[in-house]
Amino acid sequence: MTYLMQYVLVAFVLLIPMSCQQSKSSVQSKTEKTSSSVVSKQTTMLSDSLKKVVKTKAEWKAELNDLEYNVLREKGTERPNTGDLLKEKSEGVFTCRGCQLPLFSSETKFESGTGWPSFWEPINEVNVAEEKDNKYGWSRVEVLCARCDGHLGHVFNDGPKPTGLRYCINAVSLDFVAETKN
Ligand SMILES: [Zn+2]
Repeated sequence: MTYLMQYVLVAFVLLIPMSCQQSKSSVQSKTEKTSSSVVSKQTTMLSDSLKKVVKTKAEWKAELNDLEYNVLREKGTERPNTGDLLKEKSEGVFTCRGCQLPLFSSETKFESGTGWPSFWEPINEVNVAEEKDNKYGWSRVEVLCARCDGHLGHVFNDGPKPTGLRYCINAVSLDFVAETKN
């Protein structure tokens, strides 16, 4: 009887650290599993909203007028002070003329005096892409729609507070969706 009790006691003592370890590692793996599934869910949501819009030259030509095509698909620039959205002062969202992705909020639009619609911040970090542009021996940063890769304009460091940035955007690259107030 005594031997048996001792045996049980020893077995019990030996089992405690093992079971502790086991439960700890199972909790750990559960946590890892949860966080990785959250990450993959976020990635999926992001890639869903930014599923690339890819069209042929002919399809773009059918949807855009000549100037829009030249700016958005061939990285052209509209003449200053010609854009219909330059003077747009209503509250709302400026979207991509090519694929309707929201790009800039009216809250960040300002009068730069350049003749092109100007914003000090994109609507978020995902929808507006930036790329180095060294054309014409001039080092600039090109601004593009992240979904259809449409050319929007360039971003410069001489903008107003709070960012100090100036997103100089072709009006023909944009559409405007006015905010509806109830
Ligand atoms: Zn677009």
